[in-house]
Amino acid sequence: MSIRIGNGYDIHQLVPGRSLILGGIKIDHELGLLGHSDADVLTHAIMDAMLGALSLGDIGLYFPPTDPKWEGADSIELLREVNRLLRDRGWRIGNVDSVVIAERPKLKPHISAMRSRLAKALKVDPDQVGVKATTNEKLDAVGREEGIAAYAVVLLLEEDRGGDF
Ligand code: MG
Repeated sequence: MSIRIGNGYDIHQLVPGRSLILGGIKIDHELGLLGHSDADVLTHAIMDAMLGALSLGDIGLYFPPTDPKWEGADSIELLREVNRLLRDRGWRIGNVDSVVIAERPKLKPHISAMRSRLAKALKVDPDQVGVKATTNEKLDAVGREEGIAAYAVVLLLEEDRGGDF
């Protein structure tokens, strides 16, 4: 069986007048993430990890921020698309691990909902999708609540091609 690993990173600015969406879950907060799409930084990091695992580039290549088509895009829809892309190539998710770095709001109450939403979009069990949250201990831009960042690692497994061998 073949395996591949990929990593992803993303960061978006926190600004007033935008919704805060993380892992496909809308979270009550006075600030939201700025971006061309819904700016779901966690979902973006996961997509980049998935594409990276197959050396397929990054999400900017598939969903360019200059294309009006992706304005306000639901990142969970884009995640479904990236998942289709790797399934079409004969790969499936082994597991995802991720971490969101945010000073505020407290994300712990939303972790379980994020895992379920991401797992459903990826057509895997929630126990294959790890989401962790931490603060930046008030350091740097994330610590000053100027933005939220996310890292993700994804392990891909090659589907059994049954009879190819
Ligand atoms: Mg992004």
